[in-house]
Amino acid sequence: MPLPRSPSGIPVARLRALARALAWAAVLLLAPAVPPLASVPSLSLPPAARAAAPPRVAIVFEHAGASLADLAPIYRMHEPFGLGIFPHKRYSAQIVRDALAHGLVPILHLPMEARNPADTAPVAGAVWVRMTDGQITRIVEDDLASAPGVVGVSNHAGSRATADPRVMAAVLRTVKARGLWFEENRTTPSSVASDVAARLGVRRVLITTYLDDPPVDIERKVRALIPIAQRQGAVLAAAHITTGTPQVVLRLLPEFRRAGIVFVPITEFLPR
Ligand SMILES: [Zn+2]
Repeated sequence: MPLPRSPSGIPVARLRALARALAWAAVLLLAPAVPPLASVPSLSLPPAARAAAPPRVAIVFEHAGASLADLAPIYRMHEPFGLGIFPHKRYSAQIVRDALAHGLVPILHLPMEARNPADTAPVAGAVWVRMTDGQITRIVEDDLASAPGVVGVSNHAGSRATADPRVMAAVLRTVKARGLWFEENRTTPSSVASDVAARLGVRRVLITTYLDDPPVDIERKVRALIPIAQRQGAVLAAAHITTGTPQVVLRLLPEFRRAGIVFVPITEFLPR
């Protein structure tokens, strides 16, 4: 899909990047000191620049793979959102390529066993706790092969599997061997995913803010990201492509812009 162009023929995304760079310079020159960022991973900016950084929001949209039409509102925004892509779906591989071309962050959304079987099924390529380590390695590698080019792995469901240290170690060893990182969607307070990732030296990021789970009050929850980002400096949230949330974010985009919010990739929340 060609990039949209401005009347001057310059791609809109490039103009937007230029405008953002100018806004940044204005912030650095004009803004008074803002409160220090709390509970936000440090960035590769010098401390003075970080103190004046604009509020940042990262959103990951999950459950891509079965349809291309669902992704149109996401691509239209030209922002570096994460995109969680199911393995073995009709468009899994194509969506990885399209996501990269649109500046998104493609992530394998790995189905994992839930306590309630209905939460996991009927998705292909799932990790079950009855599997041996070798079987888990093979299924994760098969899943990755069905979505070549993903840069990270996230869990879909998994309230049983993410609480099992052996299973998580088998998954995360494969993630590490491929040079990828892990996005944990916490589905149980008993999760050991972050602990096992730390032990194995796998870079990971935890998401606990969901915009449409349950799928009510979505507009309020999307809009609430603005004051949260302004207060904390940054916020990371996840949503699903099939709940209408991408359309809500698209509609509210002018409010985010007016508030000076900068959308950043989820990778900014990974430890360096
Ligand atoms: Zn999911």
